[in-house]
Amino acid sequence: MIVDVKDVHKRFGDNEVLRGVSVSVEAGEVIAIIGASGSGKSTLLRTINGLETVDSGEIAVNGVRVHERKTAREVHQYVGMVFQQFNLFPHLSALDNATLALRKVKRMKREQAREVARSALERVGLADKASAYPQQLSGGQQQRVAIARALSMQPQVMLFDEATSALDPELVGEVTKVMRELAEEGMTMLVVTHEMGFARETADRILYFDSGVIGEEGSPEQIFTDPKNPRLRQFLHRVL
Ligand code: ADP
Ligand code: MG
Repeated sequence: MIVDVKDVHKRFGDNEVLRGVSVSVEAGEVIAIIGASGSGKSTLLRTINGLETVDSGEIAVNGVRVHERKTAREVHQYVGMVFQQFNLFPHLSALDNATLALRKVKRMKREQAREVARSALERVGLADKASAYPQQLSGGQQQRVAIARALSMQPQVMLFDEATSALDPELVGEVTKVMRELAEEGMTMLVVTHEMGFARETADRILYFDSGVIGEEGSPEQIFTDPKNPRLRQFLHRVL
């Protein structure tokens, strides 16, 4: 088991955003997380990546107890995260964006870091854009650079938080294609997405988030053809 979330609770003031969430993820598994806006999907990913603390419960990634503040930094070394906004540094080339964490966090030598970053750019189909700056790239290309930046750290788990939601519709496909390839290569992935086609075709398991709890969980087949939870049925009715 590579990610183990046990009975996690998290509140912001009076708002209990996670109300007892448990998820176990095996190496190589691809989990899609769906659910209404505000249901706690991003917060769950952020707690797994050590970006948020939890109020109670436990999170282990690769055996490291993430919820203990002092180990949170270590987690960034093997959990990569891709956000809706690409957050690339505008003054750095694609290659330098993908090199930065290797230099700063892994303390890798310049040439070695560039080599690793180059192969990450290759993996997302952007070997020829290594020297381009973000503003010279389309949104889809920028998001692929952001994926390469995460991959360059050689993570064991990748978290995607609505990675295609900020893209023009015609650019969504190039990003989901990269995500699909990663899944096929055996990457462990937790993917918050509104792309139901992607969830259905790529995920091994789907979690439906409902007001801070997992309202239903199952195979894509089961979730999409035989949802039990009435709120999931309503949700699917709205989005499909
Ligand atoms: P989702 O990703 O499913 O849309 P989020 O996890 O982003 O949901 O948010 C769940 C709830 O937590 C929302 O009501 C949101 O406003 C609240 N929330 C998220 N982050 C914070 C924060 N840093 N401070 C206060 N409230 C927050
Ligand atoms: Mg969110």
